[in-house]
Parts: sequence; structure tokens; C-alpha cells
Amino acid sequence: SPELARAESLIRGIPDYPSPGILFRDITPLLADAEALRTTTAALVEPFDGAFDVVAGVEARGFILAGAAALAAGCGFVPIRKAGKLPRPAASIDYALEYGTATVEMHDDLPTGTRVLLIDDVLATGGTLAAGRSIIERLGYTVAGISVLFEIDGLGGRDVIGDLHTVFHSS
Ligand code: 5GP
Repeated sequence: SPELARAESLIRGIPDYPSPGILFRDITPLLADAEALRTTTAALVEPFDGAFDVVAGVEARGFILAGAAALAAGCGFVPIRKAGKLPRPAASIDYALEYGTATVEMHDDLPTGTRVLLIDDVLATGGTLAAGRSIIERLGYTVAGISVLFEIDGLGGRDVIGDLHTVFHSS
């Protein structure tokens, strides 16, 4: 749609950030635009309409889109946070970064079998979303789907995650 094309044009490529050779996709101009935020949020949830009970997002940029998506879908939001931020984490999953490891944590306040739509801003290597999916399943919930605003091709994320919905991808 023209609205989605316009939203995509607001994603800014920043060369050599955060390190040389990386083209960082900066979505903040898209977030700052009311129509682009509304259109992309709708596109994130639309394929999963009626198939999820709650939206989860991974700290930190995932919170923004997942929170907006939860409001648009009329459901609640659940955070998946970096280690040490949640008061009563029920599970933690370690995952590999380019250099070193990170840990995500989540509460278990939902009923077993709750259908969770997992949302993040950018798919790169897939490590973050794989950890998010693992922790949802570890707690006995069902992953209703994985939806991402922007997929960076060529970094292997699609192979790691498998079936997922992406609104935009690099070409
Ligand atoms: P992955 O775990 O797939 O390698 O990296 C994805 C995570 O890193 C996402 O949570 C995302 O927020 C962040 N990330 C990686 N590359 C970019 C980028 O180019 N732009 C933005 N906005 N986030 C990125």
C-alpha cells in the first residue's frame, strides 16, 4: 500500500553504527510519524488476527511496537527483559551475541497455553527472537507467531527463526 511504502521510506540507514561496516536501520523517524506508526502496527498484527491472546516484546525497541500492537489488537502486553530487570522472573534463557552472551527473563503470570504473539523491531541474526521464543515455550505458553517490522536479509535470521512475518526487509 502507499501508506506502507511511505512508512518504509522513513526507516533511515546509518552507516558504520554501532561499529564499522554495520548499516544500522534506525526506525525512530517511522515511530515519530503517526500514520506510519499506525499503519505498520496494524501490518504487524493483521496476519495473526484472532489467533493470539497477548503480545510480547523484547527489551528495548520491541517494547514500543509490541505495546502499540497490543493496544491496536485490544489485548495485553508482556515484557521479555534483559537479566536483572524483572522483580520475579520465572525463567531465564542465555543466548549468543556477536561478542559474548546475553540473558532474557520473563514472568509467568499467564495461564498455561496462553497464545503469545512475539514482536520485535529488527531481525538480524535471529538470536534475540530465538531466545524470546524459547522463554515463552519454557513457561508453557504457545507462540502464536513471530512478527518483525524489518528483516535484514543475509544475516541468517530467517534460517534460525523459520516461519515469521516481516513487514519490510532489506534488498
Ligand atoms: P539479532 O538478535 O537478530 O541479531 O538482532 C536483533 C536485535 O538487535 C533486535 O532486538 C534489534 O532491536 C537489534 N538490532 C540489530 N540490528 C539492528 C538495526 O540495524 N536496527 C535496529 N533498530 N535494531 C537492530
